[in-house]
Amino acid sequence: MRAVVVQSPGGTEVLSVGTRPVPEPAAGDLLIDVAAAGVNFIDVYHRQGIYPMPTPFVLGVEGAGTVVAIGDDTAEFGVGDRVAWCSVPGSQAERAVVPAVRAVPVPDGVAFDVAAAAMLQGMTAHYLVNSTYAVQPGDAVLVHAAAGGVGQLLVQMAAAKGARVIATASTEHKRNKARAAGAGAVVDYTRHDDPQSLADAVRAANEGAGVRVAYDGVGRATFEASLRSLAPRGMVALFGGASGQVEPLDLMRLSQLGSLFVTRPTLVHYTATREELLDRAADVFGQLTAGALQIEIGGHYDLDDAARAYHDLEGRRTTGKLILVP
Ligand code: NDP
Repeated sequence: MRAVVVQSPGGTEVLSVGTRPVPEPAAGDLLIDVAAAGVNFIDVYHRQGIYPMPTPFVLGVEGAGTVVAIGDDTAEFGVGDRVAWCSVPGSQAERAVVPAVRAVPVPDGVAFDVAAAAMLQGMTAHYLVNSTYAVQPGDAVLVHAAAGGVGQLLVQMAAAKGARVIATASTEHKRNKARAAGAGAVVDYTRHDDPQSLADAVRAANEGAGVRVAYDGVGRATFEASLRSLAPRGMVALFGGASGQVEPLDLMRLSQLGSLFVTRPTLVHYTATREELLDRAADVFGQLTAGALQIEIGGHYDLDDAARAYHDLEGRRTTGKLILVP
């Protein structure tokens, strides 16, 4: 089978599409014919060695497809079932082995590319607005990189809860995407190199007041501004580092800036049990099938074009979700 392989840590140049043996499903596993494999920032951290992986390895942790074989003890699923998954290494390949406990059923009418997007990015937005900080009607909420994969979903989910969403994005095209997703105000954060200047712009978009929560997946470039944008007792949910990882923080600053909260959440801890995974996925799929949530597929790429997909993602040239088609 063909697969996207990382031979050693590095930039997009270390990606190659090679031939690998089809993996065997062990007890509790499903073998999947992968229809859509997700492109995610966590793959960049894996490829770069920021989250170390033993090399060589098949890239990708997310996808959707059809069960073609099952190991022992997998009564929940059968051959022919449509499933999606995330947090499973080795997903960017024609076939992937997925533990049945990490697979969720894909409802009829949900396309495989949309199903893949609903997993890592959809469930991340879901846990951030429901569980990390449960958004309340009337809350002012800051969402960085709001035209991105997680960003557009965060804006929609927070706005649906009655929040006033202040969105940042780098281009007018992206800010229009954020507005269309439900942002009440947009800020061009590339015009504010100084964190206080960006925080002032966020406050100006909120009648001078701080926000209750800042959802920050950009990291190094925005974290300080996120802190300074908060109302007293507000929270920064630092869920990623698209611009780089954040420096260590002196906790006394949280007191000085208003008894603030900072958390660094990760999806695996918010889908920790089978029940939580199924509930969260069902809720996201339910919003999709009800038409309450829109997923933009910002690009389909052939497996052979994986390097170009990451080049685009890391070069800030994309909106929505990117999908590799094996
Ligand atoms: P996006 O589609 O949001 O792409 C990243 C965006 O970040 C870019 O489009 C860009 O938007 C913005 N950005 C700002 N600075 C930079 C930079 N220096 N380099 C690259 N991009 C930059 O990606 P995803 O939706 O896949 O992921 C968003 C974040 O969410 C990532 O940090 C990812 O790691 C994190 N994540 C965390 C999870 C968790 O559970 N903790 C799970 C899933 C994702 P613009 O041009 O508008 O600035």
